[in-house]
Amino acid sequence: MSTALAEMPRRTSAYRPVSVARSRNLKKNYGEIVALRDLNLEIYAGELLALLGPNGAGKTTLVRMLLGLARPDSGSVSVLGSDPHLGHVQARVGAMLQVGRVPETLRVREHIDLFSSYYPAPLPIAETLKIAGIEDIKERPYGELSGGQKQRVLFGIALCGNPDLLFLDEPTVGLDVEARRLMWAQIRTLIGRGKTVLLTTHYLNEADALADRILVLDKGAIVAEGTPAEIKARAMGKQVRCTSRLSLEEVRQIPGVLSAKADRNAFELQVNAAEPVVRELLQRDSWLGDLEVTNAGLEEAFLALTQNHHTDASKERN
Ligand code: ATP
Repeated sequence: MSTALAEMPRRTSAYRPVSVARSRNLKKNYGEIVALRDLNLEIYAGELLALLGPNGAGKTTLVRMLLGLARPDSGSVSVLGSDPHLGHVQARVGAMLQVGRVPETLRVREHIDLFSSYYPAPLPIAETLKIAGIEDIKERPYGELSGGQKQRVLFGIALCGNPDLLFLDEPTVGLDVEARRLMWAQIRTLIGRGKTVLLTTHYLNEADALADRILVLDKGAIVAEGTPAEIKARAMGKQVRCTSRLSLEEVRQIPGVLSAKADRNAFELQVNAAEPVVRELLQRDSWLGDLEVTNAGLEEAFLALTQNHHTDASKERN
């Protein structure tokens, strides 16, 4: 990952990249399933690193290893210079996990009190409630809250210990647009306070809105890395739609086709540049019809970025 160091965004003139967590040649299999394959990662102090990937890419597995909650089959993990299992490391780390479950009957404030007590130098309770946006629901039992309110409480629990490093595993999953934007603002508050954040997400627009740097993970491997602008430039392509007598497999073989699928009686192709692909399609199939070229949206672009790598890896796993 030497390029990562060179490409790190400098957010202030005093900013120097200092590694706060890393993995080296991390491997994890669950039986036949390869969850992580030889993964090298570096997280730098003060950055928000987004780990972007589709379902099953390995994001949670990686976060769990960085938290010392799961052991790799091989390879190593180091957090704040030490083994993540160690107490002095855990005292400086906060986490919001997808399966974050807490007792339903305790009130919000009681949860924050309790979790704050596990840390040597927690934030004042009032500050945690404020940053997480849960002041107005602090007396409510957790079990009575909406999904979005629960997410905010789990976010408050993650940050109450005033950690240097935060792992936020899909913190906005299931939230509506307004709640998601609110959570983004709260995450930005943490970054403004100099925290380092590793955020996992399915959404390229979320990574784009928040991250200094994005790693795209797919099938347990990093398939792209860069600033949001670099990732978008790489991912934003064109979508070509057409009917054809060619088979899907033949269409996929055309140079420049990132991914292709059959949609009703047409093919839908993700490409970087449309013209060479269209030229080749017309050359190979004089019956080609219903041709449409459009700009790929963010979501299609993200799919193209990852589906491009669904080759041998998916065969291995299926
Ligand atoms: P999502 O976005 O859906 O949460 P993810 O990127 O976080 O996905 P992981 O949860 O890390 O992906 O899973 C990676 C792969 O490992 C998946 O194929 C998953 O089914 C598998 N996996 C994860 N945990 C286990 C487990 N405890 N036992 C068996 N397989 C597992």
